[in-house]
Amino acid sequence: MRSSSVYLAVLVCGVADAFVAPRPAPVAQVLRRSSSEESAREEIALRNEESSDSLPPVSSSYQPVAAPSQLALAGLVAERCLGFAADRLGDANYRRRGARRGRGERVVVLGSGWGAAALVSALGESYGGGVTVVSPRNYFLFTPMLAGASVGTVEYRSICEPLRSINGAVDYLEATATRIDVERKVVVCEAVVCEGSQCSIDEFEVPYDVVVCATGATTNTFGVPGVREHCLFLKQIADADALRQGLGNCFERANLPTLSDAERRRALSFAVVGAGPTGVEFCGELLDFLESEALAFYPKLVGEASVTLLEATTTVLGAFDASLRDVAVGELEKSRNGGEIKGVDIRLGAAVTEVNGTHVLLGGDDPLPYGLCVWATGNGPTRVVTDTLKALGADGAQGDAQAWARGRFGVDAWLRVLGAPPGEVFAIGDCAADVVDFAAETKATLPATAQVAAQQGEYLARLLKLGPDYDLAKPEPSRPRGAADDDRRLDELFCDERAGHLVARPFQFLNLGILAYVGDGKALAQVALGDGDLGVKAAGRAAFGLWRSVYISKQVSPRNRLLVIGDWVRTRVFGRDITRF
Ligand SMILES: Cc1cc2nc3c(=O)[nH]c(=O)nc-3n(C[C@H](O)[C@H](O)[C@H](O)COP(=O)(O)OP(=O)(O)OC[C@H]3O[C@@H](n4cnc5c(N)ncnc54)[C@H](O)[C@@H]3O)c2cc1C
Repeated sequence: MRSSSVYLAVLVCGVADAFVAPRPAPVAQVLRRSSSEESAREEIALRNEESSDSLPPVSSSYQPVAAPSQLALAGLVAERCLGFAADRLGDANYRRRGARRGRGERVVVLGSGWGAAALVSALGESYGGGVTVVSPRNYFLFTPMLAGASVGTVEYRSICEPLRSINGAVDYLEATATRIDVERKVVVCEAVVCEGSQCSIDEFEVPYDVVVCATGATTNTFGVPGVREHCLFLKQIADADALRQGLGNCFERANLPTLSDAERRRALSFAVVGAGPTGVEFCGELLDFLESEALAFYPKLVGEASVTLLEATTTVLGAFDASLRDVAVGELEKSRNGGEIKGVDIRLGAAVTEVNGTHVLLGGDDPLPYGLCVWATGNGPTRVVTDTLKALGADGAQGDAQAWARGRFGVDAWLRVLGAPPGEVFAIGDCAADVVDFAAETKATLPATAQVAAQQGEYLARLLKLGPDYDLAKPEPSRPRGAADDDRRLDELFCDERAGHLVARPFQFLNLGILAYVGDGKALAQVALGDGDLGVKAAGRAAFGLWRSVYISKQVSPRNRLLVIGDWVRTRVFGRDITRF
């Protein structure tokens, strides 16, 4: 992941055995007996997600927030390259001396997404006290290609990588964290345990010295009635699979002779709620599907298919420059194949008030009939965040931070959770609210993107790999500078020297820009470096080339790269697979 981020930086500029972590305490409590593994997993997932339903949006993904930059362009790239070299040198140095890197503490990581994968990858296989990962998912998921997977442009397994192959030394536990008990220094977890055909939800605890919460976010339904019951989401592989099944279902159902004309039209009406990158990219992929596979295999039906994009605000792709937003709207609204495939009907200012089994209800407007409704709106917190925040209380630093963190963990500049024992609880990625400029009166937070999560994961690994002399509980993590200090030069690359101390630098987000696919082999690219907008804005096929090369470079393994390229070639030559199981 690190090498690919260096590659990305270059691309953009040019276009635990010895200290095996103790196993968690044995299963302490059987919470519930459940007949099947699937229903037990669903129960845990639902409880994880429901915590967000009644909350205001904690973040709207991809908000354009410029990061402060104290470094010049060349300095930023050089710093990242030096950091990469220093880590490699440092690891080699430690390996040569047979020593283990880091502080010798037991690190427990919650999650296996962008933040967690970057962290465990950068911690390496020789991290001091060992690393335990708790996640209901034993793999990393490349979310930017999820929309493509939902229509079959790429296959699910091509965009997933087992966590154990990202770092073979981690102790992975397939479980869902429900609460961090910061007093007792344990993470409370739930796991589905099956014996034969009988499954139960068991609760157990995992002790930690340092815990990193990287549990991402859930889809926020804003408490709109009927959304959980009737809509499909786009966050996980299971969601993409349900969408692909649902899409096939709509066409096969519409093809049955028993349906009336009105029922057939409704079956082929696709409603997408939320015009952020997820909603827009899904619309683009759906139009591609209609233009190729649906046209080829359901020629009598495709003309009746319609796609409606509903957005409560007045803009599409709010994070992008206005000129690029216009291109996106033009591309989506454009009909294809000589008018046979209708363009997307974009309705701005359309707030959904309810979704029933057949219609999306819009305050004031006529209800919109649908055959399949995709809910792609803002983020909400996972249950572990909500329950830990409750335990931290409304008073104190975390309570104050909620004014801007809004349901996420408010963190300080070193990604430490405010209000928790200093240096013990960290949060990264979508579950954390990291302020761009703490000195500013209005606290803007970093956007909820993979880019931020991955950079925070890499940063935190470097912080944790600093020697045991660094006191992470100090207001500014630091150590006195010693004369006979083997690794002084390495630490200097990551620390500032002040009053005879090496002080770890705060996290600094390096904004590289944003990309979005809009269908028909076209994309939008808004390239940046730090808060300096490079002025490179592109739309169309060239931007799509950049989209593809960036996302190929960001794949976590050569296996993923090969599989994704293979999928693109397969789709181009043979089309998407419409087989239904
Ligand atoms: C369809 C889609 C497209 C996107 N496209 C882009 C893009 O093009 N560019 C971009 O920058 N960003 C994109 N994003 C946003 C990006 O995916 C997120 O910002 C990023 O995944 C956040 O990383 P994370 O590590 O915080 O969370 P995630 O990557 O979501 O990982 C969260 C992890 O925590 C686990 N987990 C959840 N609850 C618990 C729990 N209670 N206990 C333990 N583990 C738990 C999950 O199983 C998962 O492994 C996209 C998101 C989606 C959904």
